Amino acid sequence: MPLYTYENKHQDSHCTYCLGGFVVMQKLADPVFTHCTYCGCEISKVITASHVHTGTTGSPNSTLSEKNIAKNDFTQYRKVGKGQYEKTAGKGPDTFSAED
Ligand SMILES: [Zn+2]
Repeated sequence: MPLYTYENKHQDSHCTYCLGGFVVMQKLADPVFTHCTYCGCEISKVITASHVHTGTTGSPNSTLSEKNIAKNDFTQYRKVGKGQYEKTAGKGPDTFSAED
């Protein structure tokens, strides 16, 4: 379900719940809130990125990044053809053939 952020833009009328905004998980079909459930103040939906990716694949801090592989004396190869591998990180021969 997507997360929606609501904001109370009326600095002088709010409660502790809507002060500073809040996030709710709603179905797409659910009605958009226009007023704070708690204090009844006018609130408005804020457009935010609806998907947060938490995966680390491809991130520089990933433990499997090429930098970390080299640092830990591992060697990473990628397949470039049938039985042919090319080094992408680490020590060792630049290429090798699995059929040798
Ligand atoms: Zn409120």
